[in-house]
Amino acid sequence: MKLVTLHPDLRLGIQTDAGIIDVAAAGHSAAPTTIDALLADSDSGLAALRELAVSAPASALLAANGVSFGPCVPNPGKILCVGLNYARHAAESGAATPATPVLFSKFNNTIAGPGDSIPLPTSAEQYDYEVELVVVMGKRARDVSVEAALGTVFGYCTGNDVSARDLQMRTSQWLLGKTLDKFMPIGPYLVTADEVGDPQALDLKCWLNGELCQNSNTSDMIFSVAEIISYTSRYMTLEAGDIISTGTPSGVILGMNPKVWMKPGDEVTVEVEKLGKMSNKLTR
Ligand code: ZN
Repeated sequence: MKLVTLHPDLRLGIQTDAGIIDVAAAGHSAAPTTIDALLADSDSGLAALRELAVSAPASALLAANGVSFGPCVPNPGKILCVGLNYARHAAESGAATPATPVLFSKFNNTIAGPGDSIPLPTSAEQYDYEVELVVVMGKRARDVSVEAALGTVFGYCTGNDVSARDLQMRTSQWLLGKTLDKFMPIGPYLVTADEVGDPQALDLKCWLNGELCQNSNTSDMIFSVAEIISYTSRYMTLEAGDIISTGTPSGVILGMNPKVWMKPGDEVTVEVEKLGKMSNKLTR
């Protein structure tokens, strides 16, 4: 199932072949009407949404034009990220291939949706993109095995781990360059894990002003989604609604020579196979 949030109030929608079901308008008493409510009790919520997907009244169907989507997880709990998780990206960054997952975080101020403008403040200069597969947790995970890890995943979405390299590299901690306002657009769809299948078999691409600059596959990850969840859950409890951005492949501006950083007026587009394509304009 492909789930979306609908402007202006970020209520829950289901993207179907027939159109977008406005869940609140469909009047199903057991169906959650927000992503937050769904993730808080995803088994029963998904069951109700699956019923609704095949039985919604025509009056609850929205035409695609005139509908705009918000971030597909508007209020994530933890926002964890994995650095240097593709070997050629580690090499282009001048970093060694990591022996264990490199974990860092972003904060909630970074969350943005498809079509949102992303401001690039004058306080930094080296603005870069990073297409990533984003995992959305559906169950609590504490000390979960690699074998059991994917059972804790609700679904996946496309993300862009927008980065200010000069701020990222200013100190040994990357945080500052990673958590500027709206620097984590996610969407358009939150796709349930059953519909995605193997998370290690997805093409991912990024375009800057229409020019393809990243083109890889999640099979090239150093640490798989299951390994990342298992490793992280040894040290912290992961909760439903937490999201994990699993790293970017090669092709970022940081690895180019010369480096022409993103600037106001540019448009960046990211896509992960099965999860949809998302564009954002960069502004001042
Ligand atoms: Zn990243």
